[in-house]
Amino acid sequence: MLLTPSAGDPEHKRSKSRTAQPVIVWFRRDLRLADHPALTAATAAGAPVIPVFVLDPETEALGAASKWRLGRSLADLAARLKRRGLTLTLRRGPALDVLRSLVAETGAAAVHWSRLYAPDWVARDKAVKARLTADGIAVESHPGHLIHEPWAVATRSGGPFKVFGAFWRAMRMLEVPSPLRTPQRLVAPGEWPVSDRLEEWRLDAAVDRGGSVLARFADASGEDAARHRLGAFIEQDLAGYPAGRDRPGLSATSRLSAHLTWGEISPNTVWRAASRAREAGVVGAEVFLQELAWREFAWHLLWHTPEIATANWNKSWNGFPWRADSDDAERWRRGETGEPMVDAGMREMFVTGTMHNRARMLVASYLTKHLMTDWKIGLNWFANCLTDWDPAANALNWQWVAGSGPDAAPYFRIFNPTIQAQRFDPDGRYRRRFVAGFDGAGGAEAQAYFEAIPRSWRMSATGAYPKPMVNLHEARARALVEYQAHRAAPDFRLAGIPD
Ligand code: FAD
Repeated sequence: MLLTPSAGDPEHKRSKSRTAQPVIVWFRRDLRLADHPALTAATAAGAPVIPVFVLDPETEALGAASKWRLGRSLADLAARLKRRGLTLTLRRGPALDVLRSLVAETGAAAVHWSRLYAPDWVARDKAVKARLTADGIAVESHPGHLIHEPWAVATRSGGPFKVFGAFWRAMRMLEVPSPLRTPQRLVAPGEWPVSDRLEEWRLDAAVDRGGSVLARFADASGEDAARHRLGAFIEQDLAGYPAGRDRPGLSATSRLSAHLTWGEISPNTVWRAASRAREAGVVGAEVFLQELAWREFAWHLLWHTPEIATANWNKSWNGFPWRADSDDAERWRRGETGEPMVDAGMREMFVTGTMHNRARMLVASYLTKHLMTDWKIGLNWFANCLTDWDPAANALNWQWVAGSGPDAAPYFRIFNPTIQAQRFDPDGRYRRRFVAGFDGAGGAEAQAYFEAIPRSWRMSATGAYPKPMVNLHEARARALVEYQAHRAAPDFRLAGIPD
């Protein structure tokens, strides 16, 4: 369907007519203006630019917290563009249909975007590129979501790395280009296409009651917030990162993951800032750079072996007797296991949209080992609740903990929640902050949890904190028996290579 601009629409603006054919920039997970190769290329020839975001079925399928966070990020991008005289055009529908409509309406000569690497998105982008090219439109995809393209970090034989250590050694030798500046000159088209209104999309609808809680406790979103976060982290926390990053009660990590997920800051910008600190002798910088490399490793693996998103990377785990969904898994989702360190992580995720990495590893280990539950059940819950959800990091890390992934944790590493709490939350600060009833009423976040969760869960701040749902010792022993039996099977290969 071709849409025509309506003069009454406040999003619709006319400016003095220009003759050059406009160029469309299709924004996806690159919601920034700085260090944006696609935007820079689109503006290079001085043609008018039409920035577009499409709420397509792939985006509609995102988890509740992801969509909530996307709404915030889009609002920031739209405001930023507006200040530079451009309107972010919002359209709903399959990306190909929307883009073809927009090309027809605006006479655009080219479409640019930043490449993505998850299987569904790759398939969509390929189809869009093929059809638009056949229509005679110039289509250009650009880097920007990763520091290095997945095919650019390769073993001597040209294949992908399957072990992080080797990947890291190869990656740290590669040049990382300086970030690009925000294009100075952004030219508006003679006429703006009609746009949906962001509020009409109700991107916050799926978080239901949790939206107002997230608004209170989630980190700020947007390009300025991302840049500010990076600066504050480098200045205040980078030096102490190696020691502090495992302490969920402290704010010692960068908290950049949602900014990176939504592309509010480029990974190159983060990498270069940490590299400069490393060159200046800040010891913590090397460890931080390695964490950024884990993000790259995850995306490279997903691109080379897309099945890692939903299936055991090591096929030897296919027959493992993980339990399907159960009441136990439901108690895990609700942060009602009776293990305060596990519940603190699960409740932190509901209240803030994120979870400390130490807690992510612990809750994943508890679900897959103490509860012997399929890692995909945890993966899906994280996808629904995380504002920084990214299909690569989520899949690689779940499989790493469960044991089925590349370079995975040894099967006998079963995190003990009590010992983890003693080592990484010795003063109980993290548990008090998120768990009411652990040691008094808990912090503001602990109370807000009960405002955020669905009423049907029937949990209240005044209810008693539950007793542990499993005996840790027995559950660990059961998991070890199953893991050992499975590994003893004749066709089991520890470092299984996917088919
Ligand atoms: P920092 O410690 O400051 O690290 C800097 C950046 O490095 C992060 O922002 C992130 O982009 C990257 N990074 C750090 N650790 C990892 C890692 N283990 N794997 C990949 N990248 C990493 N991270 C996501 O961004 N999205 C997810 O959906 C996600 N799911 C996870 C699921 C599980 C089971 C586990 C154990 C980890 C998951 N992680 C995920 C990785 C990690 O927990 C988060 O990236 C980190 O907690 C974000 O906090 P930060 O930005 O302060 O990290």
